[in-house]
Amino acid sequence: MTDMADPYYAERKQHKREADWLHACVYANYCIPTKCTCGEAITADTDERGRNYYVCKVYEDDRLHTRHDCLAAIEEELKELKSQYDYEVSLRRKLQYEIVQMRKDIEELKKLCYF
Ligand SMILES: [Zn+2]
Repeated sequence: MTDMADPYYAERKQHKREADWLHACVYANYCIPTKCTCGEAITADTDERGRNYYVCKVYEDDRLHTRHDCLAAIEEELKELKSQYDYEVSLRRKLQYEIVQMRKDIEELKKLCYF
């Protein structure tokens, strides 16, 4: 049982908030953003050249807000999904191999039990 009034837990919680915030800041311009580093929502915008951007709702050009090219964001997102897919496929193959091994073990055990 933890004592939530203990300053240790309040400090730990604060560290977790800071770590989450740093993660959001580090990946602010990678993949499709879901929230700006300032905490505001993200919207889509088009510049005078017709390029599309994911941009903070209260964007100002002071490097404190997110403004990320849509095409680059989608390419990054696709790269991440491919990487995740590769991992899932390799995990599935590993599990299928383990199932085959376990079936063999079960057959061996059955032979030992019934003969
Ligand atoms: Zn912002």
